[in-house]
Amino acid sequence: MLRATVVDDSEELVSSVIADFSPVAIHDLADRPLPPGGLWDPTYPPIPDPPPTPLHWNVCFSDAGERDRAAEALRAWLPHLSIEAVDLPDEDWAARSQASLTAVHAGRFIIAPPWDLPPDDGAATVIVIEPSMGFGTGHHATTRMCLRLLSEIDVADATVLDLGTGSGVLSMAAALMGARSVIGIDIDQDAIDSAEASARMNTLPDTIAFQVLDFRNDPPTPADLVLANLTGGMLTSSAAAIAALVRPHGRLILSGFDHTEVDRVIAAFDRFMERQRLSEDNWLALHLQAR
Ligand code: SAH
Repeated sequence: MLRATVVDDSEELVSSVIADFSPVAIHDLADRPLPPGGLWDPTYPPIPDPPPTPLHWNVCFSDAGERDRAAEALRAWLPHLSIEAVDLPDEDWAARSQASLTAVHAGRFIIAPPWDLPPDDGAATVIVIEPSMGFGTGHHATTRMCLRLLSEIDVADATVLDLGTGSGVLSMAAALMGARSVIGIDIDQDAIDSAEASARMNTLPDTIAFQVLDFRNDPPTPADLVLANLTGGMLTSSAAAIAALVRPHGRLILSGFDHTEVDRVIAAFDRFMERQRLSEDNWLALHLQAR
């Protein structure tokens, strides 16, 4: 592995030099705070240009020879770059690269990549998702908390709307729990493509459908249960539009916000009462019910 650190904007040059030596993984360790509104909200609030961040990478190669040749090339191109060669034991490297790629438990579900399918022992429902499938692979606390809250709701015969479906994970979970119909919508065509690809990897009832849609401009039909793992900013600013999608006495699962935002989110949904609250890694999730 190479540890490369530089404080100017040579990132493109570094990556093009490294690319000649077939790196097997690049870990970006720079501390880059999320823009307000989060990463996945392309429209609200306007995302300011990020401040310049010094490059700080760990780059893994398949063998030490490639690594040393890459280091030599980098030193020639960028003499001011600080680089350090580090030997990683094989198991260590394998464990690091696989750590985020294993099956994850959440409520009554296991979200598993195709290469780590747990035995079907009937105890949990397995949802297969390729980790490259965008947001919603079970490795984010907000997704897991939504699944935990969903696990405790009786959705049989309910209609379900998943606002911002990403990989489709919450929609698939609701369909597998026997919901009467599930519609997963996303503003992003790539997300809908990945949700449809994920749906094909699972054996799902035909009650599920995905659609490219911005619920703020183009409201879908109201449902008994609405899932919205978005951002604190979007939940607050679009609370009226989201609330209008919940049928009388229906339920709402919200996530994507932290402790500093929860009071604003709750105040924006004052037509609802709080049924359950979960918190993990400073993220929160709420189960609300329409009064
Ligand atoms: N539901 C998944 C993914 C959440 S990520 C999970 O819980 O893991 C949030 C998703 O919301 C992104 O895929 C983003 O494209 C989508 N999104 C953001 N704003 C939206 C809007 N106004 N209408 C529909 N989808 C939206």
